[in-house]
Amino acid sequence: MTAIHRFSRVLMILLCGCSTPGPVTDAGAEHTLTFLHMNDTYRLDAVEEGRRGGFSRVATLVRELQAEGRDVRILHAGDFLYPSLESQLWNGEQMVEAMNFLDALAPMYVVAGNHEFDPRTPDAVIARVREAKFDWLADNYRLATGVQDVDDKLQRGFTFMSGARKVGIFALTLHPDQGGNVRDYLRYESGYVENAERVIRQFEAEGVDLILGLTHVYISSDIEIAKLKARHPKFMFIVGGHEHEPEFQAGDNNNATIMKGASNARTIWQIDVHFVNDVAEVTTQTVAVDESIPLDDEYQVIASKWRAKLLDLIPFLPSRIGDAAMPFDGREVAVRNGDSNWGMFIADQMRTAFRNPPADFALINGGTLRIDDFVAEDITFEDIGRTFGFSSYLRYMTMDGDDFRNLLEAGYRGFGPGKGYFPQISGFRVCVDRSRPNGERIVQLQVPHDGDWQEIDPDRAYSVVAPDFIYRGGDGYDFSQARDVSRPGSELKFLVLDAVIRAQAAGKKVGEGLDAPGSRFATLPAGAEACF
Ligand SMILES: [Zn+2]
Repeated sequence: MTAIHRFSRVLMILLCGCSTPGPVTDAGAEHTLTFLHMNDTYRLDAVEEGRRGGFSRVATLVRELQAEGRDVRILHAGDFLYPSLESQLWNGEQMVEAMNFLDALAPMYVVAGNHEFDPRTPDAVIARVREAKFDWLADNYRLATGVQDVDDKLQRGFTFMSGARKVGIFALTLHPDQGGNVRDYLRYESGYVENAERVIRQFEAEGVDLILGLTHVYISSDIEIAKLKARHPKFMFIVGGHEHEPEFQAGDNNNATIMKGASNARTIWQIDVHFVNDVAEVTTQTVAVDESIPLDDEYQVIASKWRAKLLDLIPFLPSRIGDAAMPFDGREVAVRNGDSNWGMFIADQMRTAFRNPPADFALINGGTLRIDDFVAEDITFEDIGRTFGFSSYLRYMTMDGDDFRNLLEAGYRGFGPGKGYFPQISGFRVCVDRSRPNGERIVQLQVPHDGDWQEIDPDRAYSVVAPDFIYRGGDGYDFSQARDVSRPGSELKFLVLDAVIRAQAAGKKVGEGLDAPGSRFATLPAGAEACF
């Protein structure tokens, strides 16, 4: 069976460079250049109990496509070194080894995501860039570690040859204005569109046959960059990352096509390029990376080696600590857009972080919950370890109702889905109208009262538990009106572990009696005045 049977969607996107596309013939056709594109991969192995994604299945796909005589290239749009359970132990060394394996199968081109620069000191980045055998592309950022061979290894205006055809890739990462990490060892250039166009002009001067963008920016930025196609017809598509669920924006004569895959290679893109009489014909399709794609034996040697190293260090990781009452949805798409039952369970525990009495409210930014996977059936130490990619210490404080309401507005600002600052909440429910200006979007903020709900009392003092990260202004929250603030304590990871173990000891399933998803956060329906 060829890989073609597995594609869930096939889209012919465009014929480039000819204003009146004629019928496609094989006359003059050359070999096929095939890209496999993925982004935001944090794991060596598959997710969803091993059923979805993973580099091993990507390796299988590469080999299958090569067996069909294609020139296969792999594109990775960033976020792979951090954060993960493993990165806390090895700073991404395991990912670079796995990506070097893929690069040896088919050349791999990579742009850094914001998470590559999570560490404040450059040591790990220096080591990883040194180890990387794949091409590391960088057109709007550069390393300034002072280690010359490392700083020089990032490539600008990257091109490669496929047969007689020259392909140019410009690579852009998230600027600090939009949440990119500010680091002493990094330099950024502002202006995504300006940077892209500068490199595109250079490619045109070099006579490239095809131009594509490899980006780790928000899709709203990609849409702006894609408009450069109107002036630069050889610019055909952008493959991106940062968002964790598939994205597709169809291209036309004025806009390059935009594609992003699902995190951990659950869904990737196959992009085929045929050059027919100097015209690049591009077809794109998503590939659902699932159990129909066998694991690659050679890759599994690497995955097993790191798994064994992990279990040497944390032997109890696979131990079962509880039974899930229902499948908990910890995927990013769930924790960053609405009530996630995993997020609600965690926020509920936070209210008891300082024991009795429980705090009135708790909130946590969805971006702290890193597992990006379901937690179902057996709950293991590993599920807890993967949920918390960072240490997260909590603070207990007092706030007036109106100050709390103002604070919470930060969680619903901006446009588009999947923001890491979106809060998972406990002790209240909220109705939001995202069509209103920032800071005025909360329509209702209700608290329990005598078995019912009522609007929050603006003048009453409420107790609140929140992570130290957002207390200190992380993710744009403003806690300046908080009073009687405790020192950071009660690490969230241990708090959740304690809740799971206590449920187990009491013979209960974890999450029994939890509110239904959608009961704490609602979006105002069009034309309505209230959600509840
Ligand atoms: Zn990112």
